[in-house]
Amino acid sequence: MKHFGIKLFTIAFVAVLFFQVGCKEEEKPSLPTVSTSQVLNIEEQVAQAGGIVLDNGGAPIINRGVCWSTMENPTIADYDGITNDGSGLGEYSSAITNLLANTKYYVRAYATNSVGTAYGDTVSFITLPAAPLVPDNHHMLLGNPSSATADEVNENDYLMEKNQFHLSYNNTTRSANWVSWHLNTSYLGSADRQDDFRTDYSLPSDWYRVSETSYRYSGFDRGHLCPSADRTLTISDNSATFVMTNMMPQAPNNNRYTWAHLEGYCRDLAKSGNELFIIAGPHGKGGSGSNGYAETIDNENIVVPSVTWKVIVVIEDGDNDLARITKNTRIIAVIMPNTQECSSKKWYEYRVSVDDIEDLTGFDFLSNVSTSIQEVVEAGVDNVPI
Ligand code: MN
Ligand code: MN
Repeated sequence: MKHFGIKLFTIAFVAVLFFQVGCKEEEKPSLPTVSTSQVLNIEEQVAQAGGIVLDNGGAPIINRGVCWSTMENPTIADYDGITNDGSGLGEYSSAITNLLANTKYYVRAYATNSVGTAYGDTVSFITLPAAPLVPDNHHMLLGNPSSATADEVNENDYLMEKNQFHLSYNNTTRSANWVSWHLNTSYLGSADRQDDFRTDYSLPSDWYRVSETSYRYSGFDRGHLCPSADRTLTISDNSATFVMTNMMPQAPNNNRYTWAHLEGYCRDLAKSGNELFIIAGPHGKGGSGSNGYAETIDNENIVVPSVTWKVIVVIEDGDNDLARITKNTRIIAVIMPNTQECSSKKWYEYRVSVDDIEDLTGFDFLSNVSTSIQEVVEAGVDNVPI
């Protein structure tokens, strides 16, 4: 009996053991365990995230990755972006893409098995601020007033980007529509005026080419748009201003007095700690030079403008130029008649608003500046006593 008792006990013990093992095998799987890794290599639009699947919860991991959003606690059903980085246990890395610059994001690792999806902790990060639209001191920092392109088909709004200035050329008027350049003391040195007026051979070869003699005996000066005296650091910089694409037929009294005095005033501003973004051009048809009125010169090949205009944005010399243009930034804008009578008034008596020049030319100045700032600064007329 005693012996039988021991036998029974042994059978019962083994049965319980089997039952327990069997029970463990039939235990229902649970959600996996996953943790979110640190976010690395954060840039403007991309970053690197990832996770670690620590436990599969008793069922194979069928999907894993990260999901992210500008809202907290993104899920695989509600996200700005999601990755799928394979299956199984262990560590994985995830490429986060298509982010907005300077924006706070929340990212979570996830892992899915047959039970469902589990998440790691939320990790937040902020993307880098966007690089400025154009670099500091760029000749076209303010924008491209006519949306000029360097496409020969666009022959009346043909973009030419030179080291010393940028311009839009018009193959009908045979002058620039506008020339745009940056000015501070970094462009000023001791190079002499080169006076080497010449054809701009960088124009498409089948276009009419204005030469150094095209204005001869016309009664109009070969008037610089970007001034020779704004580019005196090196001989080649100064020489670069003497291409005929930087010239307009300018009444001598406009060129040599009124216009020249404004150019000198700009250089004085630069020498007193400012940097300037300047855009200038001719407009209209028909001016009067030293031989009287003319609408064209050079056998009708070159149009004589009726006015000359200029927009000058003045900020303290420094970095982050575009961001420093505010509703209080000083802007000088002028429209001057292309006549000998021009010099009967001072340059500052020709001050107008930028809006006036936009209305006249159809160009959009300061298009790289926010419209709310443009609205204010373009409507005002500079009234600083000169
Ligand atoms: Mn600057
Ligand atoms: Mn504008």
